Amino acid sequence: MSQSGGQNLRLVLFGPPGAGKGTQAHLLRDKLNLAHISSGDLFRNNLNNKTPLGLKAAEYMNQGQLVPDEVTIDIVLDKVLSLNSAEGFILDGFPRNRNQAEVLEKALTQRSRNIDKVVHIDVSQEELVRRLGGRYICRDCQAPHNINAMDSTQKDPKCEQCGGELYQREDDRSEAVQRRIQVYNDETVPVLDFYRERDLLLDVSGLNTVVNVYQDVLSGLGI
Ligand SMILES: [Zn+2]
Repeated sequence: MSQSGGQNLRLVLFGPPGAGKGTQAHLLRDKLNLAHISSGDLFRNNLNNKTPLGLKAAEYMNQGQLVPDEVTIDIVLDKVLSLNSAEGFILDGFPRNRNQAEVLEKALTQRSRNIDKVVHIDVSQEELVRRLGGRYICRDCQAPHNINAMDSTQKDPKCEQCGGELYQREDDRSEAVQRRIQVYNDETVPVLDFYRERDLLLDVSGLNTVVNVYQDVLSGLGI
C-alpha cells in the first residue's frame, strides 16, 4: 500500500445485509478520512426527493430485491467519479454482482485508479436472520435499534435518542430478510471470487464485537 496511514485508500466494504457494514464504514470513514459512498444512502436520498430513479429503486428494495444493474451503476459511478484522484473512498453496498464489479474496475482503470482492498465481513446465515429480524428504525431521527438487545418488559419501546416511535422497515421483515439473504448468496458471492482472483480480498469475521471487527480490519489493512 503506497499511502501513509491509510488516507486516500480506495476500499470496498463487502458483506451480507446485517453484517454491520454501515457501522464499520462510519468508523473507517472517520479514521481514514475517506468519502463514504453508500448505495443504500444514495437510493434513499433519491427516494426522499421523489426522483423517478428513487421511486423505481424503492419498488425493488421494498420487496427485498436488488435494484437493476443499470440504475445502480449509474447512480454509484456518478458519485465515485466525482471525487478527485487524491480522495479516498469506501464503497458500501456496491458492487453487488460480478457485472457491477467489472464495470467499476473498467471505469477506474480508465482514470488510472484502482481498488486497494476489498474488506469482507463474514457472518453466518443463522446470525444474520437473528440480527435483521431485530432491527427497528426511529420514525423521527432514523436511529437504528436492536430489539433483541432492548428491555423486553417495555410494551412499546421508544427511540433511545429522541423518544420517537420505532418501526421495522419493509425489507427487514422476515420474508424479505430471507429473500435478501438468498439474493446475496446467489448474486453477490461470485463478487468475492472476482476480487480473490485479483488478490484484493481481506476476510474478517463479523461475529466479534464492533470494536474487534474494526481492529481486525485496520490490522488487515496494515494500519
Ligand atoms: Zn429517534
